[in-house]
Amino acid sequence: MPNSDNRLWAPWRMEYIERELLGDSDECFLCEKFESKEDEKNLILMRGKTSFVVMNLYPYNNAHLMVCPQRHLSEYTALNSSERSECQEVITGCMKIINSKLNPDGYNVGLNIGRAGGAGLEEHIHWHIVPRWSGDTNFMPVLGQTKVMMEGLEDSFIKLRPDFETLEISILDPK
Ligand SMILES: [Zn+2]
Repeated sequence: MPNSDNRLWAPWRMEYIERELLGDSDECFLCEKFESKEDEKNLILMRGKTSFVVMNLYPYNNAHLMVCPQRHLSEYTALNSSERSECQEVITGCMKIINSKLNPDGYNVGLNIGRAGGAGLEEHIHWHIVPRWSGDTNFMPVLGQTKVMMEGLEDSFIKLRPDFETLEISILDPK
């Protein structure tokens, strides 16, 4: 029988990892990062008009990014048209940059909405962008390996950030 751990690998389920990030705090870690101006420390790759891009601190894979509206909203339907439009443009930009720098074989891209939908941080909606390479299913890191992962994250940050600085986002309804 094949190893079921590999087959059950489920990158869209983030609740466990995001609960770790929240720790004992009830603060929203996305708002905290956005309100802090220390983008390098917080691994914020880009600030748009209504959205921002941050690297996932406990990535499912190299260059696992999160695209978030700047407003603290839990519901997809609460996003206004500018936010929806910009988030989609930014997701496209993220994928173009990852394609050019890291040449992945595929992606998992999506939203986890509500606890039942696999969200750990259900209060602030965010898209996960997880690049995939053939045969990468054993990457899933153990939470204890934070130091090693931080080094990898910083390398990816340095590699990707210049492209985000020049990324142009065209938005249909820039209100
Ligand atoms: Zn928030």
